[in-house]
Amino acid sequence: MTTKRRPIYAANWKMNLNAAAARDFVAEIAPVAAATPGQVLIFPPAVYLSLVAAAAQDTQVETGAQNMFWEPAGAYTGEISADMVADCGARYVLCGHSERRHIFNESSEMVTRKASAAQQHGLIPVICVGETLEERESGETMEVLRNDVVCSLAAVTPSPQVVIAYEPVWAIGTGKVATPVDAESAIGYIRAVIREQWGDMADSIRILYGGSVKPGNTAELMECPNIDGVLVGGASLHADSFAGIIESGDK
Ligand code: PEP
Repeated sequence: MTTKRRPIYAANWKMNLNAAAARDFVAEIAPVAAATPGQVLIFPPAVYLSLVAAAAQDTQVETGAQNMFWEPAGAYTGEISADMVADCGARYVLCGHSERRHIFNESSEMVTRKASAAQQHGLIPVICVGETLEERESGETMEVLRNDVVCSLAAVTPSPQVVIAYEPVWAIGTGKVATPVDAESAIGYIRAVIREQWGDMADSIRILYGGSVKPGNTAELMECPNIDGVLVGGASLHADSFAGIIESGDK
């Protein structure tokens, strides 16, 4: 039996845009979000979370944080807690984006603590996994994905709301997109690993592809049966290209 899963179009702005650009973006994307059967999420820099959530009020656009810390409060200079994210009006949080894992040395053990804390404070974790070029070339992709998924889900309460993003590190910000066949095979494998952990709930989990997604390559990715949406970096910085992605994904 195949389960119908609502597509997600997620914009990860990373450390880009400013207050005025963020406001304009939400205003431009709101009609597109109203027209798609999919779900539109924006992950702005944390300092603009409240602003984006306020601008998105009364629209179909939803907001998420790019990162958070698992502790509820305390002497953790520079960090933000799950409660703070929720207080800003956000509902989602990226956990273990490849830039967090590779630039800031986040391990899957840290990722699962973050994702679990997010759940405990009413947020939905979007857990990112993916292999490096070196791992891919040495034939370790599936082993890396299994390890990332099992360890990143270890402390997470099984829930159909949890979202996974498969983002091969070599495809992020490089212009090299995974072929639909490769992306489908990796994401199908991730779903199989989730099934081993969470049983048939795996059929309800939305798994996104991320890595150099653009309007021109979205449709073929979204046609793959296991790909439930896209997590977009560079092409989400302009409302017109993000709108193009949503529109081509809906076709
Ligand atoms: C990302 O930031 O998650 C991402 C996939 O970036 P890009 O679309 O630029 O490759």
